[in-house]
Amino acid sequence: MTIDFKQPAAAADAAWQGDIRAGVRHVRDLAALPLSPAERAAAQEAAAGHKVRVPKPYLELIDWNDPDDPIRAQVVPSPAELVAADGELDDPIGDHEFSPAPRLTHRHADRVLLFPTYQCAVYCRFCFRKESLTSIGRGYTREALEPALAYIAGHPEIREVILTGGDPLSLPDKALAEIRARLEAIPHLRLLRIHTRVPVALPSRVTPGLVEALQGRLMVTVVTHFNHAREITQATEAACRAMRQAGFVLLNQSVLLKGVNDRVDVLEELCRELMYRLGVKPYYLHHGDLARGMAHRRTTIAEGQALVAELRRRLSGICNPTYVIDLPDGGGKVPLAASHIEGRNGDAWLIRGQDGKARVYREVVS
Ligand SMILES: *Cc1c(COP(=O)(O)O)cnc(C)c1O
Ligand code: SF4
Repeated sequence: MTIDFKQPAAAADAAWQGDIRAGVRHVRDLAALPLSPAERAAAQEAAAGHKVRVPKPYLELIDWNDPDDPIRAQVVPSPAELVAADGELDDPIGDHEFSPAPRLTHRHADRVLLFPTYQCAVYCRFCFRKESLTSIGRGYTREALEPALAYIAGHPEIREVILTGGDPLSLPDKALAEIRARLEAIPHLRLLRIHTRVPVALPSRVTPGLVEALQGRLMVTVVTHFNHAREITQATEAACRAMRQAGFVLLNQSVLLKGVNDRVDVLEELCRELMYRLGVKPYYLHHGDLARGMAHRRTTIAEGQALVAELRRRLSGICNPTYVIDLPDGGGKVPLAASHIEGRNGDAWLIRGQDGKARVYREVVS
């Protein structure tokens, strides 16, 4: 399925609206799918903790003959997610601790997270904000953003606004254009960043109208969320091309998930195809957050370090993401890759090369 960017606006909108209608919109729609008895039994209870929603283009990527299909694993509720482990958290990365206004998180001086909606086009079982999506569960209204916009206007150190959620691209074009215009009117802002799974799960939503709604004075960066090379299709390619042609900078963040992408060949193909086929730079590979009921999808940090060390050997610099952990209690994102520095004696550093052999590097400064 491809997107025709020359089609009239109404037809472009009918296409993505049809993709939503023909997908899973509610837990009861799962009844029509060939789930395992265990998945069927878990669905209702799991949906109470985190909504179920899968647009048709994403649903069509699932190979139902494979019980361990990596696409299915991301969106079909599993009995394993009903098991909460000790140490798991409702707010795994401390969004709420640094919230000076409703729908705003300000942890780093120059950038803020703005939550225009807590709804998504697809609901991912591993979502680290699933408690917020369920307990807050509100959509966009103009009034809800006023305190956050006033805060941003009053803080000239903020240069970058990150629309996240929820999924900001699940909003109508009109709402996006309105938010963009309000932000543009704040003179110290330079960049508008959008964190979204829409180009992955509902690529037909990336219409000329949506692209136009985001274009204006601010530099626009769209951070997509592909986790597996099977998510890269003709339709996602067309969506990314449209955004690149509009001048948006495209980056991707992935979550390292056991049984989905925790093999080096899977990550290698994902990162290579993101860069070479979609023109999307792999930005972050997130270590699995401590979201509740997700122990079955988490890898160890040592496993993640071994994977990214091998990726570094196999892929060019621009295809490599930074492996990070988002620390609880607002510690922020910090790199996790194993250090190549083995030791130091004054100006002599012992540094392990990409070939695994350590070398002495002597610093020379005047
Ligand atoms: C992830 C995050 C950001 C963005 O961090 P970058 O490293 O710039 O991508 C900003 N604020 C908060 C609170 C975050 O969690
Ligand atoms: S699209 Fe993002 S915010 Fe929404 S459920 Fe998936 S990971 Fe969570």
